[in-house]
Amino acid sequence: MISNGVNSRKVIIIGSGPAGLTAAIYAARAELQPLLLAGAAFGGQLMLTTEVGNYPGFVEDIKGPELMQRMLAQAKRFGADVELTDVTRVDFSKRPFRVWTDEQEYEAEAVIIATGASAKWIGLPSEERLRGHGVSSCATCDGFFFKGKKVVVVGGGDVAMEDSNFLTKFASEVIIIHRRGTLRASKILQKRAFDNPKIKFIWNSAVEEVLGKDKVEGVRIKNLKTGAAEELAAEGLFVAIGHEPNTKFLQGSGVELDEKAYIKKQKRSLTNIEGVFVAGDVEDHLYRQAVTAAGDGCRAAMDAEKWLAEQESKT
Ligand code: NAP
Repeated sequence: MISNGVNSRKVIIIGSGPAGLTAAIYAARAELQPLLLAGAAFGGQLMLTTEVGNYPGFVEDIKGPELMQRMLAQAKRFGADVELTDVTRVDFSKRPFRVWTDEQEYEAEAVIIATGASAKWIGLPSEERLRGHGVSSCATCDGFFFKGKKVVVVGGGDVAMEDSNFLTKFASEVIIIHRRGTLRASKILQKRAFDNPKIKFIWNSAVEEVLGKDKVEGVRIKNLKTGAAEELAAEGLFVAIGHEPNTKFLQGSGVELDEKAYIKKQKRSLTNIEGVFVAGDVEDHLYRQAVTAAGDGCRAAMDAEKWLAEQESKT
């Protein structure tokens, strides 16, 4: 499959979260010999999650990285090739499509983009150190572990309000810290948060440091109007300040993106370019669950298989 230094495939899948790996499993079982360009950091957002309790089929919690290793092993069992390398550039202007990493050039008849999205972080060293030890960007994934505990949520958008409401099912108290004096969230979600007796707000404030050595013990915040600093005790910090789709490598590719740089899906899992399909959080900014991404990966692989068969029947 390598000629003149170019690795040629029927299907290349870019990205290795649940969407990419499920696409690889389905494409491999359809005997499309897919190549999965998994990225240098394999596994997507679940690699940052501790316990996963909502992925169907696992009665006991499973660690996010272990779930991803299992999906990878399953994809390989059916014959998917996997390379741990980042895609830097693509050319979708004609078929076969071309894809580049730093080391290699590839060609493919069809491409599935499943590069996901990354949670935005505040950017503090203490926040990074305590990720997975009380610092989380996914209330749905990790809220369960804060039963009876006090947690802090950073952000003022819909997700911060939804996460805070969700967290009150478990936490004894939820404190929302927002950098301004008004919320960005929709009125209905604001009202739900204001009406919830377990939720308190701290306005015009930013988290300056996450306190604790091996686990979160609190946060130091600063009032952005007065400059006054304060320490709050808390066992969890949920950062809900938005996500960024991983689409930088598509710049100039002609793949249509929305105003927030998420890929726009056209028909089923097809993008605006015939033969280029999309799956998972790089397109979906609403559900953002491992199981929905896996479902998208399945759909994209089946759509790609059908489309390739149609192309072959034309020749
Ligand atoms: P978002 O609407 O962009 O809100 C992000 C929030 O985080 C804003 O309040 C922002 O503050 C704050 N923020 C951003 N950077 C920050 C930083 N470095 N430090 C501190 N705070 C920071 O993002 P989202 O809440 O994730 O929502 C994403 C999209 O999904 C939105 O379009 C939302 O409407 C949609 N959504 C809808 C629903 C629903 O309709 N049920 C549910 C969930 C999500 P500022 O306000 O000062 O900018």
